[in-house]
Amino acid sequence: LESNLRHALADNELELHFQPQFAVDGRRLVGAEGLLRWRRRDGTMIPPGQFIPVAEDTGLIQPIGDWVLGEACRRAADLLARGHPLLIAINLSAVQLRRPGLADRVAFWLDAYKVPARCLELEVTESVLMDESDMVTGTFARLREMGVALAIDDFGTGYSSLSYLKRFRVDKLKIDRSFVTSLTDGSDGGAIAEAIIGMARSLRMQTLAEGVETEEQFGGLARLGCDQIQGYLLGRPMPYDDFVAFIARQAAPPEAVGEAVG
Ligand code: C2E
Ligand code: CA
Ligand code: CA
Repeated sequence: LESNLRHALADNELELHFQPQFAVDGRRLVGAEGLLRWRRRDGTMIPPGQFIPVAEDTGLIQPIGDWVLGEACRRAADLLARGHPLLIAINLSAVQLRRPGLADRVAFWLDAYKVPARCLELEVTESVLMDESDMVTGTFARLREMGVALAIDDFGTGYSSLSYLKRFRVDKLKIDRSFVTSLTDGSDGGAIAEAIIGMARSLRMQTLAEGVETEEQFGGLARLGCDQIQGYLLGRPMPYDDFVAFIARQAAPPEAVGEAVG
């Protein structure tokens, strides 16, 4: 896997797919999360859960993560040119943040494609923000200065002390799918989603619920005051060209209905 992965980058076998993100209010498309895919030459797709850990262990996450950053900026620029100022979020691995140079690479790619920093959001897990090293703290301070948004992925699933919320200005909490699922299955997960949304509001952060698969979940999250939604209900991760077509369908006026009536 490791030696194949080494060649995957050079052979253009990596793709960034996009999963739409919607404002609960009006179900407006507001952004997308870029999710990495590895399409082998024989056509098989390897999910990120299988190769990201290998990339992290071997250091390959550095060049791969940099490719993701560049690809996200390239697509964000193309969307802007098409008249769609969307927020593009990407996932950062802890390994990328513990090495120097991340903020420089973000600045480099934004400039290379002339993308405003406000179009880019970086998703990190809580454990990364609990790292009190100067490296991590300094990197986030610079990203903040640049105007890049910061989201916490899988919020509520780690051992969090929450004290990091004082050290970093976090823009968004992503409510993990497990809490969304238990919102409607009668367990206590609903209370957790509610607590996260309440806390985010008092700290002036946004909330985005992940893995929303049913209208029932959507309705429950809307009632709790969740800001944004991502999940199979409204759109799966898709290749970029499909995402562009998806946006066009969103923007199209609703089809005339009922004309045949009477
Ligand atoms: P994640 O960031 O929590 O991504 C959400 C995962 O949930 C994605 O799986 C997505 O396809 C899936 N998902 C989205 N909506 C639904 C839904 O309604 N129901 C269900 N059952 N699943 C849903 P995916 O694409 O396989 O990604 C898995 C993980 O791989 C990601 O979790 C992220 O941690 C990591 N990953 C993906 N791309 C990158 C990347 O570019 N860099 C790094 N470092 N990690 C990445
Ligand atoms: Ca994520
Ligand atoms: Ca997540």
